[in-house]
Amino acid sequence: MVLNGLSVDIEDWFQVGAFERTIRREDWDGLLPRVERNSDAVIALFDRAGAKGTFFTLGWVAERYPALIRRIVDAGHEVASHGWDHVRVFTMTPDQFRADIRRARAVLEDAGGRAVTGYRAPSFSIDQRTPWAHEILSEEGYAYSSSVAPVVHDHYGWPEAPRFAFRPVAGSALVELPVTTARLMGRIVAAGGGGFFRLFPYAFSRWAIRQVNKQDRRPAIFYFHPWEIDPGQPRVAQAPFKSKLRHYSRLAAMEGKLERVIREFSWGRVDVVAAHQAATLG
Ligand SMILES: [Zn+2]
Repeated sequence: MVLNGLSVDIEDWFQVGAFERTIRREDWDGLLPRVERNSDAVIALFDRAGAKGTFFTLGWVAERYPALIRRIVDAGHEVASHGWDHVRVFTMTPDQFRADIRRARAVLEDAGGRAVTGYRAPSFSIDQRTPWAHEILSEEGYAYSSSVAPVVHDHYGWPEAPRFAFRPVAGSALVELPVTTARLMGRIVAAGGGGFFRLFPYAFSRWAIRQVNKQDRRPAIFYFHPWEIDPGQPRVAQAPFKSKLRHYSRLAAMEGKLERVIREFSWGRVDVVAAHQAATLG
């Protein structure tokens, strides 16, 4: 059985890309926080389903909830970086990017007491516009990144990128693990979790993960968010209709679906999967 990468991007309901034009960063601290209780629910879910995973966490969250970071570590999961406050990489300069990941890592390592060796860009925002990003991750000593979505999508995507693990910087050991995609009717489509997993029938995700494991003989890299298992989160009435449709649909069914996919396949921490892939890349 192929060991697949299980991951969750730790951010609150008001920090998602879909609401970034509706909710200002300076207002975040005044909003009802749900990230700690929802992340604890994810820890409990992983525990029930018997899987370890990676928590790509915002530095902003770790600064406010250091005890949560400790609980993630104590439960045997990996704490990795999701940057400081969800600014997309392609909107930053190289210097801003370096400062962002340094600040986040310092707080994450301080709270968790473990080295942070993995990074996931907010909204998979490493693409053809940021040829310097992987180089900076390598210089900063990261072992892996899982920041590329090799698809065409309205908010993100780098369709020319490889679909599976690759070394993005010549002469560096850094491994990039793109989020899982599937081949469907001659097209490459996103199939690695998040909204796709929540909105589409379970059978689609099961088919896609099987295709990747059996035909491509590769691990799937799967992700979701803590707010996706929280039907009780506050509603952002002013957000665009399409954003609201995507964000609020089928939240109540998500936890059961996640438990099912975790039980049906073999899952582990992304740092473990990255090490396996690094060994096959030579
Ligand atoms: Zn995110």
